[in-house]
Amino acid sequence: MLTVTAVDYDNNGYGVAKVDGFVVFVKGLMKGEEAEVQVVSSRRNYAYAKVRRLITFSDQRVTPKCPIASACGGCQIQHFSTFEQASFKQNIVEGLLKRVAKTDIQVQPILTMSDPWRYRNKVQVPIGKDKQGKMICGFYRAQTHDIIPFTDCFLQHTIQNDILAFILDFYNARHLYPDTLRWVLLKRGIVTEEIMVVLITSDEGMLLKDELVKELLYTFPQIKSIIQNINRRVDNVILGDEEIALTPVTTIIDRLGDCEFAISSKSFYQVNPIQAKVLYDKVIEFARFKPTDTVMDLYCGVGTIALYISKFVKQVIGVEVIPEAIEDAKQNAKRNQITNASWITGDAGEAARKLHDEGIGIDVIVVDPPRKGLNQPTIDAIVDISPRNIVYVSCDPGTLARDLAIFQEKGYQTEIVQPVDMFPQTVHVESVCLLQKI
Ligand code: SAH
Repeated sequence: MLTVTAVDYDNNGYGVAKVDGFVVFVKGLMKGEEAEVQVVSSRRNYAYAKVRRLITFSDQRVTPKCPIASACGGCQIQHFSTFEQASFKQNIVEGLLKRVAKTDIQVQPILTMSDPWRYRNKVQVPIGKDKQGKMICGFYRAQTHDIIPFTDCFLQHTIQNDILAFILDFYNARHLYPDTLRWVLLKRGIVTEEIMVVLITSDEGMLLKDELVKELLYTFPQIKSIIQNINRRVDNVILGDEEIALTPVTTIIDRLGDCEFAISSKSFYQVNPIQAKVLYDKVIEFARFKPTDTVMDLYCGVGTIALYISKFVKQVIGVEVIPEAIEDAKQNAKRNQITNASWITGDAGEAARKLHDEGIGIDVIVVDPPRKGLNQPTIDAIVDISPRNIVYVSCDPGTLARDLAIFQEKGYQTEIVQPVDMFPQTVHVESVCLLQKI
């Protein structure tokens, strides 16, 4: 047991305290708060601890809406006020830019949501049994496979919670348990309100499948597609390769600005479309596209950014490694009557290098890589192409700062950094940056 005062936060939203030069990371402790804490693990010069008793309270502490907020790994900072969440994320981006990217550029104030709840359009929950044998669904307790049941998750729409409750009631009322059902995945179009239900099972069989489908469609007219996905593996990957369509339609439609997108069970689609629109509008603002521009959208997923920007430019080339996503991108282009987009399936860096070798002139490059950021060959290929502007969309400010430093050395200066809060209540922060040739 120790008595400590948090002087800062780490990137997980833990309070950081110092005791005789020894650093203690305390889960649930806010900046400025003093508490009695219990050390749960320790190393040579740092330790992790949890709060036993708060001695002083931050005026930015709020009571989490969700009763399981601290047990469930999903929302790490529900106990932060909206103001504290914004300044926490702003500080993370500013700190990394200063320390890692070594730039003293003024970071734009983070763009937050006016209503930071029920923004997720996608939810996946594991299915299990409680001690009485009753069917439950929930979220895994952080770093375990114990299911913590919930009745109302405040990050997803109430209808998604209602559908999950309906599936549980369907079986529990009959005192039955669908042994093969492992996960339920729901997706919802926030503009169209269409819903997709994916039942992920360990083999083809599923108890009372036809009755469940019939009752779901009858009770929730918003459900447009139901799919059974078969995943025979026992690892952490949720979706398997085989699918059985349980409704004639297997996609849902959603709209972002004036573009319409078909979303399938497997394709990546931004989980917070309200903020995705904010982000994409910043891409357009920063890139300063010209009608004569040829633009490359690296890591394009189902083509969302490429299609969203297509009307401002002459031509856009999307590059993505997952073939199914490129198929969706092609369909989405057709659906929106967009004819100036073309697509390459493959690694972003290799595709960029190939276009450079072929001498195709590119005016602006947009990149939206996964958390690990860009690798050296990709950065080299981008620099060799020598676009006027690079717009870097990032979901990890650590790798972003690292990559901005490399671009700086190679002649691209960071002009604007704009954090966007895509994931309120969690520690994640998205950023969009403009880089210009010096
Ligand atoms: N820009 C899209 C998707 C961003 S997610 C949107 O806003 O919706 C990042 C995407 O990068 C994923 O679709 C992932 O499949 C893809 N990806 C991952 N590694 C890649 C690589 N080496 N080359 C090309 N694409 C890659």
